[in-house]
Amino acid sequence: MLRLPTIALASTVLANTLMAQNVGNWPQHSMERPRPPIVNPGPFTASAPVPSDAIVLFDGTSLAGWRSADGAGGPARWHVHNGYMEIGPGTGSIETVRPLGDVQLHVEWAAPTPAEGTGQDRGNSGVIFMAGRYEVQVLDSYDNVTYADGQAAAIYGQYPPQVNASRPPGEWQTYDIVFHGPRFDAAGNVTRKARFTVIHNGILVQDDVVLTGPTANQQRPPYSPHPDKLPLLLQDHGHRVRFRNIWARELKDE
Ligand code: MG
Repeated sequence: MLRLPTIALASTVLANTLMAQNVGNWPQHSMERPRPPIVNPGPFTASAPVPSDAIVLFDGTSLAGWRSADGAGGPARWHVHNGYMEIGPGTGSIETVRPLGDVQLHVEWAAPTPAEGTGQDRGNSGVIFMAGRYEVQVLDSYDNVTYADGQAAAIYGQYPPQVNASRPPGEWQTYDIVFHGPRFDAAGNVTRKARFTVIHNGILVQDDVVLTGPTANQQRPPYSPHPDKLPLLLQDHGHRVRFRNIWARELKDE
């Protein structure tokens, strides 16, 4: 009888291992990796209503629920006006004061207009779960070529989006993200890998992909243990990307 949970756990780990191979054989950040086809999502119509069970992380008026992500816990220094927050380049990434676990997250964002720079140097930010570990890339990918695993709605350095559903810079875009964080046993071994589903401007672009570990530039580091709940981070990559209407629904543990 005691063996049953062990077997179940082993098969889960095996299934995750097999699924993780879907990350593909392309070298990380390869410019040769096929770029996702472009799909026009249509114009932004209306900001999403906030469900009654959602945790409102940003309501357009205040950064009270956020702090600097520099580790010192100082105040978030981005600008808030007209219902959105805008990155103050060089002021640093910010994170929620409240830790989050497995969630459905809604966020609206807009890249700077007129567009400046090319590739990764254009409208770059990130929605990064677990205190900066697992990034859904934010980038101006409208008429802007970069490596497929680093464009908008990529799981950075791992999974290109299935399609490029970007709107032009200056227009509001939406991410609806389902995140299941990893789990670790007492010895620090990963027993369940992190997974993302991402809908970009109403279009499915990441379908329950299994992460190889934390997302990173020019490396795919292995998992290392961390708590089940940690702050959600928005990245300062030096560009004046705007965010608004950010809310999360906590998911029950599987
Ligand atoms: Mg980024």
